[in-house]
Amino acid sequence: MTRALLLIVVCVSSVCLAGLAVSAHSISEKARKLHFSSIVVDTHDDTTQRFLDGKFDLGTRSSTGSIDIPRMKEGGLGAIFFSIWIPSKITGPEAVHRAMIQIDTVREQVRKHPNDFVLATTAAEIREARKQGKIAALMGLEGGHMAAT
Ligand SMILES: [Zn+2]
Repeated sequence: MTRALLLIVVCVSSVCLAGLAVSAHSISEKARKLHFSSIVVDTHDDTTQRFLDGKFDLGTRSSTGSIDIPRMKEGGLGAIFFSIWIPSKITGPEAVHRAMIQIDTVREQVRKHPNDFVLATTAAEIREARKQGKIAALMGLEGGHMAAT
């Protein structure tokens, strides 16, 4: 009895998996079309920390991390929020100073790759970047301490 029940469960699972495979294929194609016809936004990217040493270049495919321009383009990324982050134990003018340095590093990446990036601060600018075939670069402040609050 247990074997029969197990066999039924396996068969049902196989049928379900086969159904999912067909279904996943059609969903995948729909998802692909939706993805590449949409403006895909990465709302939180911590790569900004890598800009600080001046050696990391977004324009080169990197074997570490998950962000670089070649993979952004392959993945159809339309906009990215580079996070400006420093530890919360750093406050006051030092926090503001370090945040400004990170903001400059993001701006520098945009300057280094004018054919790939455009700075953006509004939805309209993101749409305009899309029209130009560029990725909108935005910034997100990851904590009020960097605004000297
Ligand atoms: Zn973060």
